[in-house]
Amino acid sequence: MVTGVMKCLSCGYETPIDQHTILCPKCGGLLEIIIEPPKDFSLSKLKGRGVWRYKDLIPGYYKSIISINEGNTPLIKSANINKQLYFKFEGLNPTGSFKDRGMTVAVSSAVSLNYKTVIAASTGNTAASAAAYAARAGIKSFIVLPKGKVALGKLAQSVLYGAIILEVDGSFDVAMEAVMRLYRDLKIVYPLNSFNPWRLEGQKTIAFEIMEDIGVPENVIVPVGNAGNIYAIWKGFNELLKIGIIDKVPRMIGVQAEGASPIANAIIKGKNEPDFIENPDTVATAIRIGRPVNWQKAMKAIKESKGTAIVVSDSEILEAQKTLARKEGIGAEPASAAALAGYFKAINYGIIDKDEKTVLILTGHSLKDPESMAKADTKRILVNPLHIEKIIVGEINGFNS
Ligand SMILES: *Cc1c(COP(=O)(O)O)cnc(C)c1O
Ligand SMILES: [Zn+2]
Repeated sequence: MVTGVMKCLSCGYETPIDQHTILCPKCGGLLEIIIEPPKDFSLSKLKGRGVWRYKDLIPGYYKSIISINEGNTPLIKSANINKQLYFKFEGLNPTGSFKDRGMTVAVSSAVSLNYKTVIAASTGNTAASAAAYAARAGIKSFIVLPKGKVALGKLAQSVLYGAIILEVDGSFDVAMEAVMRLYRDLKIVYPLNSFNPWRLEGQKTIAFEIMEDIGVPENVIVPVGNAGNIYAIWKGFNELLKIGIIDKVPRMIGVQAEGASPIANAIIKGKNEPDFIENPDTVATAIRIGRPVNWQKAMKAIKESKGTAIVVSDSEILEAQKTLARKEGIGAEPASAAALAGYFKAINYGIIDKDEKTVLILTGHSLKDPESMAKADTKRILVNPLHIEKIIVGEINGFNS
């Protein structure tokens, strides 16, 4: 049994780890789960694969585990961009994003606490994941989406898994606020957003897997939206440091899109708090967030790891998405490609040396957002089947352009 405390980021209130607790019982603020490093923990004793391989470091009591074999994603070494670069391809999770790592823990928690209904606000991936895990658990899911702002693949997943879809006029931030208010007023619905710190206990396993694959890299680059994941990954490394398995944590580098960069702006300007953005906008819909609920946690992870933040434009994101596909054969959605755009910028700015071992977290699969993939340029030629040979020979010899 993993022990420790839950500590409020707003008022400092501390209480022993309790699975019923999601927000601060005193002020409603966000809580950090700080585990006591288990004395008998040993890597060689771990069994199985995926998130639950690390159950010795995941607090909570689980009467049943709702799993679809999430985690255990490949860490792919770059073949053509930089030999010191690695891609943690979270797009290969069961629903196509890292959200599944958090969802297996949070939905197992909901079921263990006898909840019959779950809810999540989402830019799309949390919804798809919540819908799938709720379906597997045999419970009802409600998802709250910003109408017209969810990538087609993600929306279609939520439909297929049978979630009840509530669409709001307004941004993700409006949807998120509605879910937080609902949870505070009506405790019969279990919330699956990342203000729920139990979700991050699943997501921290990204760090454990990276460490088991290549040890501790110099840098980990993470696209930042609601800002839970960058903290979760830092938390994972930090726990390994406290246990004594590693002797340093990587620099955590957050990347935000120009039209939705409150945290990156604050870090770059050296401010302690972000200025929130009312109408966030970017092609990277997964990080199209103006009021990141976990901003305190993200800024802590960046500062304590001596990391930084980078802002990238939409055109840099789409260019990086294409480069990743065409140089490495890896299809990631725009938010994930922001990590590569940020890597290129970090090298240009001298923030990262190209000889430093660096891991990019590719948070979601390209199939999530077919419309963004189809924006890439390529030749499409309407052919008479009888002329295919001539056209191909012409292409190979460069006659057609
Ligand atoms: C959720 C998500 C993010 C952002 O993660 P946060 O924890 O909200 O910062 C980035 N990319 C993809 C594909 C996502 O689904
Ligand atoms: Zn508090």
